Amino acid sequence: MSEPRVVLHPGRQRPIVRRHPWVLSGAIARVEGDPGPGDTVQVVDHEGGLRGRGAWSPASQISVRMWTFEPDEEVSAALLRRRLAAAVAARRGLVGDGPSSACRLVYSESDGLPGLIVDRYADTIVGQLLSAGAERWRREIVAALVECFPAAAVWERSDVELRRKEGLEPRAGPLAGAAPPELVEIDEDGLRFAVDVRGGQKTGFYLDQRDSRAAVSAHAAGRRALNAFAYTGGFAIAALRNGATSVTNVESSRAALDLLDRNVALNGIEPARVENLRGDAFRLLRELDAAGRRFDLVVLDPPRFADSRDQVARAARGYKDVNRLAFRLLDPGGLLYTFSCSGHLHPDLFQKIVADAALDAPREARIVGRLAQPADHPVALGFPESAYLKGLVCRVS
Ligand code: SAH
Repeated sequence: MSEPRVVLHPGRQRPIVRRHPWVLSGAIARVEGDPGPGDTVQVVDHEGGLRGRGAWSPASQISVRMWTFEPDEEVSAALLRRRLAAAVAARRGLVGDGPSSACRLVYSESDGLPGLIVDRYADTIVGQLLSAGAERWRREIVAALVECFPAAAVWERSDVELRRKEGLEPRAGPLAGAAPPELVEIDEDGLRFAVDVRGGQKTGFYLDQRDSRAAVSAHAAGRRALNAFAYTGGFAIAALRNGATSVTNVESSRAALDLLDRNVALNGIEPARVENLRGDAFRLLRELDAAGRRFDLVVLDPPRFADSRDQVARAARGYKDVNRLAFRLLDPGGLLYTFSCSGHLHPDLFQKIVADAALDAPREARIVGRLAQPADHPVALGFPESAYLKGLVCRVS
């Protein structure tokens, strides 16, 4: 049986020509054949030229996610194995790869494997299958992972709402090998963390902030730090192990703060240097300000405020409010490390929001550094959407 074909509108082929990995439903002139969810389709331009192959996803606005732009390349278990091996090889030497290291091994479209995320935490591999195409190749993907990491516990964390957009139910559980330990211990640049791969956020840890944690480490000495949206204390441990006098953590999740305490102990840090405030950061930062508390270093790493383009205006107000509060809490000479992981919020707009926040605080500040996602979260040049994390380092004068 021949593969179904998706024929593009003449005016809508530019993204595919430029190797953008998505075919949106509006770009399709017609579908020849009757593909099911996740089935491989040929993507054909209006002149009849074969542009590559992708996975059909009828439930999503993104109708096709491209597996390959090579007309001769078949979509098969062998292709998945090649892509996985290439992604793993690309991390070598870029990020720590010791026995207890942690890193993102596969970053979806940017590694030519749309809808597949694979993170490694020491001997535990955590996968997310987020698209109809990834789901269709579940068995082959797991086999490829086992081939690459024969001794590993392979665990699934596809328990995300995003799957519904692809017509899939969220799910989680064992994929292969032994079950992972309750808490997996990892080493990041000499810092130790306990990671809850089964119940933690994302796949257990914010691997995307590794470079930012290193940046904070470099300037933490002698500073009183505030770590807002602390999760399990990635930035807190980085600051404390590098000479911060104290860290005040603000976080709404009790489970995260419990693990943070554990990470403090794991790193041999005196608990008296750590203060945990549980609750809403917007309220707690306001209260700290009202109480006259001041800091020399503030990390502001909120969750994604904008899930879609129409939420950007509301998100902007949230970012401005919390950044204004952060500026107010800094003494002269203080450093603000402020982040946005909302991909829909353009870096220029984020910078403007931070500028507005300083004006309102009011504080005078200048940008002394810029931060972004690390090398194991690469940005395919044809897929700028994968650049989502941006950070500004501001020094208050
Ligand atoms: N900086 C962390 C990651 C932060 S993720 C790291 O490097 O590991 C964002 C965190 O903010 C999550 O842990 C989430 O539980 C928390 N959070 C979300 N909304 C919040 C709110 N309104 N107030 C306080 N914490 C919040």
